[in-house]
Amino acid sequence: MGVGLLYHLAEEGCTDVLLIEKGELTSGSTWHAAGQCPSLIGDYNLAKIHAYSNNLYPRLEELTGQYVSWHASGSVRVALAQEDLDWFRYMRGIARNIGFHLEIIGIDELKKLNPFFDTAGVLAAAWTRDDGHADPAGLCNAMARGARNMGAKIVKHNRVTDIRALPSGEWEVVTEKGNVIAEIVVNAAGCFARQISQMVGSDLPISNMQHQYVVTGPIQEFADRDEEIPVMRDPYASAYLRQEQKSGLIGIYEQENMAAAWAPKGYPNWESDSELFPENLERLMPWLGRAMERMPIFEEAGIKRIVNGAISHCADGNPLLGPAAGLKNFWLCCGSSFGIAQGAGCGKYLAQWMLYGDSEINMTGLDPRRFGAFANDSYMDAKGFQDYGRTYFTPFPGEELPAGRPSRTSPLYEKLAQQGCVFTETFGWERPKWFSLDGREEDYSFSRNNVFEVVREECLAVRERVGVLDLTGFSKYDVSGADAEAFLNRICANRMARKNGGIVLAHILSELGRIAGEVTITRLADDRFYVLSAAGAELRDLDHLLQSRNESEQVEIENVTDNRGVLVLAGPRSRDVLAKITDSSLGNGSFRWLSGQEITVAGIPLRALRVNYVGELGWELHLPIEEMEALYDAIWEAGRDFGIANFGLYAVNSLRLEKAYRGWGVELTNEVTMLDADMERFIKFDKEHFVGREATLKQREQERVMQLIYFEVDALDSDVRGGEPIFVRNNCTGVTTSGGYGHFVKKSLGFGYVEPRHANPGTELQIGLLGERCRAVVIRDPVHDPSNERLRA
Ligand SMILES: Cc1cc2nc3c(=O)[nH]c(=O)nc-3n(C[C@H](O)[C@H](O)[C@H](O)COP(=O)(O)OP(=O)(O)OC[C@H]3O[C@@H](n4cnc5c(N)ncnc54)[C@H](O)[C@@H]3O)c2cc1C
Repeated sequence: MGVGLLYHLAEEGCTDVLLIEKGELTSGSTWHAAGQCPSLIGDYNLAKIHAYSNNLYPRLEELTGQYVSWHASGSVRVALAQEDLDWFRYMRGIARNIGFHLEIIGIDELKKLNPFFDTAGVLAAAWTRDDGHADPAGLCNAMARGARNMGAKIVKHNRVTDIRALPSGEWEVVTEKGNVIAEIVVNAAGCFARQISQMVGSDLPISNMQHQYVVTGPIQEFADRDEEIPVMRDPYASAYLRQEQKSGLIGIYEQENMAAAWAPKGYPNWESDSELFPENLERLMPWLGRAMERMPIFEEAGIKRIVNGAISHCADGNPLLGPAAGLKNFWLCCGSSFGIAQGAGCGKYLAQWMLYGDSEINMTGLDPRRFGAFANDSYMDAKGFQDYGRTYFTPFPGEELPAGRPSRTSPLYEKLAQQGCVFTETFGWERPKWFSLDGREEDYSFSRNNVFEVVREECLAVRERVGVLDLTGFSKYDVSGADAEAFLNRICANRMARKNGGIVLAHILSELGRIAGEVTITRLADDRFYVLSAAGAELRDLDHLLQSRNESEQVEIENVTDNRGVLVLAGPRSRDVLAKITDSSLGNGSFRWLSGQEITVAGIPLRALRVNYVGELGWELHLPIEEMEALYDAIWEAGRDFGIANFGLYAVNSLRLEKAYRGWGVELTNEVTMLDADMERFIKFDKEHFVGREATLKQREQERVMQLIYFEVDALDSDVRGGEPIFVRNNCTGVTTSGGYGHFVKKSLGFGYVEPRHANPGTELQIGLLGERCRAVVIRDPVHDPSNERLRA
């Protein structure tokens, strides 16, 4: 991972860069890895990272002059159930977008690629032709040589023993061979990464585990063939199986007996170098037996060697790529469980981010600040354990996984659970997703499932009556001081409301004009602002706020996320409900849309904001968190006569799509600008300055590359999730970002980015939904209440 970054920093022309290695290169986890580089990976952006690596590695020897043993064997993953096949179909769309080969093949084809594989129970398989495996040391040394050739430096046998912050903002890196002053430090210390971050008072959500593969004796059948078999991946054996020279190799991700799989947190000591753990065959049962069933020639060859090495697992399985929370110029490039497959791609996109302020791919799901203090040891262990065991599980849309939960809860957690609430986790918070009123559980599926009708009822309650939702997970900051207004106007593209009580939707841009954050800001007083952001953005936006503040500016920033609870009350009868429990006037004359006031509801002083993400008359009520239960009870009681209902985030997605509200992290990401996202109305160019202004103005003069579209699609029984290819005739012209079914308008809706010439309203497109091409039409206005009459009601 570190060398991958070094290579790409150097390639971008940044050569004043030094990699410090305590042993030999690769002497941590890399030297003993099995070296597989799969293309099939469930996360769209991670798949881009894998695809980049798989494109570079075969060329690396030519580029660097260093031998690389790239085996272009391709890979085959087998489907044992219809759901596995559905996932392959979804992934085939992603492959089409990203540009790697993924073909769904039948048993006959599979047998041609690997005649030794027992296909019992196999329905079909995903064949990724252009990936393979390589000797990890060869890859690492080739990138190291390439980096050196371009001017980067590497010092080996030199341990970093401490890292100190200097008053200049630089870092003093203390090593065995002397100290180094660095403007920027990147922690790429693999399984040692926690210890390195602890040197600067930080921590990481990774757990180190032991992972084993087995190498068999020589196999005559392999010796007799010219062609190598593909790397096989099989959920039945929870294993990868491949050819290693003329022998077999089986790696197991055991799903039970895993307690023994935990390595200590980090290594026992710094001296650990090129270390393997004692082999433990017992732990691999019954999976190893199943693997042998699949490839009987492996069983005949017997086991020659077992490799048991260290592997770090991050709580959600994705690497940690980006700035460390709360620190300036301290970056992370670690936490990868597939560091061979990801090393080059992670290096490529992290280098872009470090050097230019943004990467060309969406880094939201990789940014280390997706974890906070809630990711403590027990959370990380539970999650890492779960992630490891699920390596060969098909990831279902919307699937809730139990490990490490609950972590952060609102005071309403128990009460809502008793009402059937099914929660989803965001940034540790348990947030209502849907309400099971009849005890049903969600049948996870790639198609619409048994929750579809439940969500419809929740949506109708909000559109026709009134709904209540606990959104305590919102990130919340109080920003105050004499310069607060000027500060916020400088870091946001929109202008702060001029009148006290005014609310604006504002965007934090990078210098390149890309979207770094989306916040809702209420002006509470001349010098007091209330800033709200997505739950998952708590630390990112806090960093933005704190690190953007100049020393001369009188601005105080306080993260009040944990102090304040939030209830959303929305729907045509929301005013009637609220009026029963407050003396404040709620009419348009005294409480207009897009304004906020400090009022008392049910005896509780709170901030009421007339704004919401579902596009109805309604209020967000922000209150001292300890009063949540009292307020909820009062609202519920007052709402009975009006048919009040709980609703959750599934419903919110449907409702916001009907209003064409973009989502942060999906439509609004670091990959795109406000112009790309068709959000120009939220930019105030008449402000003399805001971060990203120049870049945005420049882009206005340039030819556009992509454009956000909002569309309606003739979906059959599955809706857009994001990542699906968009076609015009037979050409793939773009990608969807998110979608779902609009229950009130009875339309399947979505967003995506396409070439601008295909973005005009009325343009006919096709969306690849689970392999079916479905007709779609670009629409201009929100399908529900385009003139915001209901919001203003
Ligand atoms: C059995 C097994 C099989 C695997 N197979 C695969 C596979 O097929 N494909 C795949 O993609 N992944 C595989 N992996 C995972 C892969 O090995 C890791 O994801 C990858 O090696 C991580 O790379 P890294 O650069 O983050 O860590 P490392 O390779 O551990 O590099 C970190 C480096 O930091 C150095 N360091 C640490 N502390 C200090 C310090 N204080 N001062 C100086 N230097 C320091 C270490 O010496 C080390 O060399 C496998 C893992 C195991 C255990």
